[in-house]
Amino acid sequence: MALAYIGLGSNLESPLAQVKRAFDELAEIPNTSLLARSAIYSSRAVGPEQPDYINAAALLDTRLAPLALLDALQAIEQAHQRVRIQHWGPRTLDLDLLLYGDEIIGEERLTVPHPYLTQRSFVLYPLADITPNLQLPDGTPLADLLSRCPADGLQRLSSPA
Ligand code: AMP
Repeated sequence: MALAYIGLGSNLESPLAQVKRAFDELAEIPNTSLLARSAIYSSRAVGPEQPDYINAAALLDTRLAPLALLDALQAIEQAHQRVRIQHWGPRTLDLDLLLYGDEIIGEERLTVPHPYLTQRSFVLYPLADITPNLQLPDGTPLADLLSRCPADGLQRLSSPA
């Protein structure tokens, strides 16, 4: 079994409902349980002009290998009829594999830890809701990253469940 952290984001077609539904769908991935969910946040979009995002994070305990878990995440994205018109553009649902145990993965389809994890407040704050004393595979404490990351318009909309 491995602990995997997932980042959730949506800024199209009722984003809050998209993210809430995605939590339920993460709980239904085979050989996987949903251990925790963060609070729900809104964040300003990075990239082209587009609506604000709803963001959150989830902690899974999974028997799936990293690429099999990525397949499951992408199947959920597809089920949300994800629209991807442009890189960094708006999307109905984005699921990122942020961390998979202590593994460092550099494959064509999968980079873990997720490349933007260390700099994005909409990833760091939700992670801290779930595991405040989290450390990255290289030993960097999450708290150090948070102390260097401006909140950047991030707003907490709900408490962790
Ligand atoms: P994006 O929709 O911009 O998040 O990018 C999706 C693409 O990133 C897919 O083709 C994935 O194969 C690739 N990818 C690489 N690393 C990851 C990761 N840690 N989590 C999710 N997708 C990833």
